[in-house]
Amino acid sequence: MRKILVIVIGLAVVASVAILLTQSAPPVVDLPSPITTLGQATPIIVHVHDPHGIRSVEAFVEQNGVQYRVWGTNQLSPVADGIWNFSAGVKTTPQLKDGSAKLIFLATSNSLLHKTARWEGPVTVVTRPPTVSVDSDQHYLYLGMADLATFNISGTWTEGGVRVGDQTFRAWPMPGGRPGFFSLFAFAWNMPPGTIPVVYASNGAGNDVTSSIVFQFPKKEQPKYTVHDLQISDQFMQKVINELDPNGSGDPVARFVKINSEMRRANNKVLSDLRLKTADHFLWSQPFLRQSHSQAEASFADTRNYIYKGAKIDQQVHLGYDLAATQHVGVEASNDGRVVYAAPLGIYGNCIVVDHGYGLQTIYGHLSQINVHEGDMVKRGQVMGTSGQTGMAGGDHIHFAMQLDGVQIDPKEWWDGHWIKDHIAKRVDLPGFSD
Ligand SMILES: [Zn+2]
Repeated sequence: MRKILVIVIGLAVVASVAILLTQSAPPVVDLPSPITTLGQATPIIVHVHDPHGIRSVEAFVEQNGVQYRVWGTNQLSPVADGIWNFSAGVKTTPQLKDGSAKLIFLATSNSLLHKTARWEGPVTVVTRPPTVSVDSDQHYLYLGMADLATFNISGTWTEGGVRVGDQTFRAWPMPGGRPGFFSLFAFAWNMPPGTIPVVYASNGAGNDVTSSIVFQFPKKEQPKYTVHDLQISDQFMQKVINELDPNGSGDPVARFVKINSEMRRANNKVLSDLRLKTADHFLWSQPFLRQSHSQAEASFADTRNYIYKGAKIDQQVHLGYDLAATQHVGVEASNDGRVVYAAPLGIYGNCIVVDHGYGLQTIYGHLSQINVHEGDMVKRGQVMGTSGQTGMAGGDHIHFAMQLDGVQIDPKEWWDGHWIKDHIAKRVDLPGFSD
């Protein structure tokens, strides 16, 4: 009997300890959007997870060995997940100075042991906005074309470059160890002509400063983009929907239009996102090559009306050159670079994208065969695959296009050594360049 009692008591103790142990984990603290900078009043969101509920949460900023309490709540949260919003910064803690600091959270569990979790991360206190100053060059802007601006940014900043309308082009440190920054930027083919390009810098603390670029927009010399009709045969429509929507059903015209609009948009987004896979230096030193012995069957930013049985079913803008030579001709790399995409891509068919550094990339579509892999370095003129008519293509050709920080541009300037000299090599070091 005694023995049994001892065992029962023993079991009870073990059980209680086990309960305490399962209750003893501290809460988990995380910040859904990371905080790197504290400004005047920076909004902060904190998420605390604890299966037993949350007893209290406090936030502190520590700088030069002194800790300031910036926020707290004692309101017991009975649920496992608590999310709180508050703001912290110089406005409520005027003792903070520009420089590095630490953001700290203490979160206490509502479990029996009231365990406390500590979270901390580095932040920079920024009270002053950055300043920008732009070169005094006259920049000539043409729809669909590119240019280069040099500038300085000082103070603390987290993001900067050239902004044209809602498009941004990153700032890069000047090559060759020279002081300052530069951006290659585009004035997109569809940018409203009155748009003023600016150099901007922001510090993540709510400060965004800009300075206008000196520019001319020669009205009479703007490219004239043409509109023309493209007759869609039943044969072409069937080819496209069988290849790009093999499991679809229903009205062929609706399927074709969906591919031409929605799939085109999605494919262009994939291309644009490749802007992040770029080198932080020039990978090239010579003018870009246009596919050897090729004829341009379509040029940049032509608007196409898609006509089927006499009716207009769609309209799209063609953002590249259609270069045709012979069937199954070798597809040449336009310049030295690194392959950042080599796979099927919807309307572009089998597609290769080559990065040339600083956000400049070339695109090759409709290939019958791809002979390179993502990550390969390629040389100017190197054959990377074979032309074909995969994707939205009615005959064997290469769709050749270029993009700058994700914005598609007219490649023709980049085929011209004089243009590169006047717009790129005169303003930044382009090692090995001679025109
Ligand atoms: Zn094309």
